[in-house]
Amino acid sequence: MAKVYFLIGGNLGDREQILQSTVEALGNDVGKVLNVSAIYETEPWGFEHEQSFLNQVVVVESNLLPEAVLDQTQRIEKDLGRVRKKNRYSERTIDVDILFYDDLIIDTERLEVPHPRMGERMFALAPLAEIAPDFIHPLMDKSILEMKSSCPDTSEVSVFKV
Ligand code: ATP
Ligand code: MG
Ligand code: MG
Repeated sequence: MAKVYFLIGGNLGDREQILQSTVEALGNDVGKVLNVSAIYETEPWGFEHEQSFLNQVVVVESNLLPEAVLDQTQRIEKDLGRVRKKNRYSERTIDVDILFYDDLIIDTERLEVPHPRMGERMFALAPLAEIAPDFIHPLMDKSILEMKSSCPDTSEVSVFKV
């Protein structure tokens, strides 16, 4: 059994409902959901009319291998995206990224774990620090709290719903 940390989020459609459906899908198709962070909101940087992002970290205990986890998350993205498309949205409504798979280091064409850009993203580190502050990043050799403290991202990330 592996502990897999996901960052899920989106900014289109019924954002909260889509996060909830994603957590349910992870529980059905990837493994037992052990923990979820609060839902965090990140203000959009660019366009004023764009909706802000909601993000959440989900921890799942899984017996799937990393590539099989990615197969499932990509299918979940597609399924939820397809539903939203009927409601006129054509962009992707949900992003499901694998942040960690235990402390494995994976670098293939399809899959990089730990997720290579989490260290520069407060919207990933804030929810992750809530539920796994002492987890040591296997490549950085730093805890999540240390990474959050030294993160250069100044964008505003706030708790949307506990
Ligand atoms: P970013 O990775 O910067 O957050 P994104 O999530 O918007 O960007 P996607 O379009 O969701 O990017 O995914 C692009 C590709 O990233 C996928 O086809 C997948 O094969 C690859 N990928 C590599 N590492 C990971 C990972 N850790 N989690 C999810 N997808 C990954
Ligand atoms: Mg992403
Ligand atoms: Mg992605």
